[in-house]
Amino acid sequence: MSMYDMDLDKVIRKITSLDVKTVGIQFPEGLKVHATEIARTIESETDAIVIISSDPCYGACDVSDWKMKGCVDLIIHYGHTPLPLKYEVPTLFIEAYSNIDIKKDLEKCLKELKNYSRIGLVTTTQHLHLLNETKDFLEDNGKDVILGSSPSTRKGQVLGCNFSSIKDLEVDVILFIGSGNFHPLGIKLFSNTKVIALDPYNSEIRSMDEFADRILRIRFARITKAHSAKKWGIIVSSKEGQYRMNLAKEIKKTLEDANMESYILLMDNVSPDMLLPYLELDAFVVSACPRIAIDDSQMYKKPLLTPQELEIVLGKREWENYQLDEILFHERYM
Ligand code: SF4
Repeated sequence: MSMYDMDLDKVIRKITSLDVKTVGIQFPEGLKVHATEIARTIESETDAIVIISSDPCYGACDVSDWKMKGCVDLIIHYGHTPLPLKYEVPTLFIEAYSNIDIKKDLEKCLKELKNYSRIGLVTTTQHLHLLNETKDFLEDNGKDVILGSSPSTRKGQVLGCNFSSIKDLEVDVILFIGSGNFHPLGIKLFSNTKVIALDPYNSEIRSMDEFADRILRIRFARITKAHSAKKWGIIVSSKEGQYRMNLAKEIKKTLEDANMESYILLMDNVSPDMLLPYLELDAFVVSACPRIAIDDSQMYKKPLLTPQELEIVLGKREWENYQLDEILFHERYM
């Protein structure tokens, strides 16, 4: 039994009503384990043939529409909410809400929140349905709870590269519901506010202060190392939601103005192997997913920086004004 609601009834209704002959299904890595089971159910309950997208997928920035265009009539994309992007193939997004019960953890969480009265509440796609229950519980216990809004995300939702929903939130602490360090680290670095993460899978409640400090120290070391770089690679991803060629061209101009050489490198997935051939280059700036430089940093021998970190190297920004890179999806098609 899956920990997630894969909403197969909705999927089958959609495939049947559109008389779909071939359907593509796509999952983030954590849900891929359900792919064959879902494909089997779809093929036994509809006339459609299923094609499983097997490339890595980390967000709705990477719907496999352009790869599947021409070979499927519909894509079922699991685990993310749609972004304001143009998709080449009709796509049904299934959030895959967790079936987890959060009640037992909320009491415990109150102790951690005892010194704070205004609480910003945020989560990821899988737990959006828990926000109202959490808000009611906290309010019943005397807290003010604020759910931020943004044009790119649902109320109270953050992405790894988009924190618009917590921008300018006037709160004492931000409570994040979800697993792992990826999102709460981003929230901490973006907001510079106290962040408490409640992981409903293992009932763990922790402050992000120490982890964020460790990451900032690593960023400082990478920036320092990049000061000696003279030849730069500027990485652009061809993934629709990560494609920022204009930003890459601006970075190239900035580097050339600073008398440095730079080359724009276009690729789909960014990985250490993809950068190996560029022996001449001393460092890289990533205009693709903003989290590659931060979260995968240890995998790369040469410094990989965000555009804002490059500004620090070039003396255009102070370290004290460190800022996380974001992709503002809603501005992409304005
Ligand atoms: S760009 Fe990166 S952080 Fe943003 S949605 Fe895509 S994978 Fe996630």
